[in-house]
Amino acid sequence: MMEEYRGVWVFIEQNDGKIEGVSLELLGAGRKLADKLEVPLSGVLLGYKVKPLSQEVISYGADQVYVIDHEVMKDYRTESYMQAVINLAEKYKPEIFLYGATANGKDLASAVATDLSTGLTADTTMLDVELEKRLLEASRPAFGGNIMATILCKKHRPQMATVRPKVMKALEPDPRRQGEVIEEPITLKEEDMRTKVLKIVKDVTKKVNLADAHVVVAGGKGMGDLQGFQLIHELADTIGATVGGTRDVVEAGWLPHEQQIGQTGETITPKIYFAIGISGAIQHIVGMKNSEFIIAINKDPEAPIFDVATYGIVGDAMEIVPKLIKQFKEARERGGEISYV
Ligand SMILES: Cc1cc2nc3c(=O)[nH]c(=O)nc-3n(C[C@H](O)[C@H](O)[C@H](O)COP(=O)(O)OP(=O)(O)OC[C@H]3O[C@@H](n4cnc5c(N)ncnc54)[C@H](O)[C@@H]3O)c2cc1C
Repeated sequence: MMEEYRGVWVFIEQNDGKIEGVSLELLGAGRKLADKLEVPLSGVLLGYKVKPLSQEVISYGADQVYVIDHEVMKDYRTESYMQAVINLAEKYKPEIFLYGATANGKDLASAVATDLSTGLTADTTMLDVELEKRLLEASRPAFGGNIMATILCKKHRPQMATVRPKVMKALEPDPRRQGEVIEEPITLKEEDMRTKVLKIVKDVTKKVNLADAHVVVAGGKGMGDLQGFQLIHELADTIGATVGGTRDVVEAGWLPHEQQIGQTGETITPKIYFAIGISGAIQHIVGMKNSEFIIAINKDPEAPIFDVATYGIVGDAMEIVPKLIKQFKEARERGGEISYV
């Protein structure tokens, strides 16, 4: 019976005892949905020695935290996490269940959705609820990003969605917020597990951390060629920024994929985003539109990037960027400091 399902749940992903930012963002989004539906918001926290993190989950908006704190949950494994989540969902019957669209979140959500025979909307960028039928409205770009599709799961519960990091906003944490911590037992045993985690090797090849950058200088095909694109690197070096680019730039081999911004790249929210020689296709915009200040340089005054830009400069990047580099360098030589707070 669908009416039996009540409440909004967020899967709280933690790694080495630290909660992932996307889970805190989802608590912010989940809070709004739960308030509209007039139901509690709950976090689902799995791991080993993770119970102390419950208060943090509550401080970011949860009313309840379901905790499974057991050695068998120490490292993420589809087998153990999926079983634990399925047991909880079958017992408490949430109507909405949100996950971060991280590697583990996507893996878990798809396995849980398959087992519970329910729907899952991947890479959602907007969430709302329709109150009459209590339907989750999960929106995401579709058909190559040309339209936004709102996906409903009318006949099955829970209604599930994954959401990318940095798309939703976390609430300001309130350490005085009160909530309930519900510890759940687990029947899984290590000897029953078919997979063993022997060693965790961190990816050390990823040198550029776009997600945490305060200032990003991003370039597009308008930079002409690989040599023209060097101006993007030079400007970024001058002001201590991180370099990003469009998919077309990555496809041209001017940047590695890890520096691509957009629907099939990174979603980022820096304080300042320079978009230089970038047309502003929707697939690019979804990855950077929440930046605090967007400064666009494009020779086409009609370029869609200007629709989201805070400041727009219409002109040839090949002339403007060298001037900017010169100005910044001179300011620095005069003893000026560039700081981003
Ligand atoms: C399924 C799918 C997923 C996608 N995912 C992504 C994604 O994640 N990220 C992404 O970026 N794209 C993505 N795309 C591609 C996207 O649709 C665009 O093709 C791409 O963003 C365009 O890149 P661009 O702005 O560098 O190039 P263009 O669209 O070619 O724009 C170049 C711009 O530079 C300007 N220009 C030219 N010369 C100069 C000059 N001298 N000075 C100043 N301006 C100049 C032009 O006026 C133009 O506006 C995706 C597409 C699909 C179908």
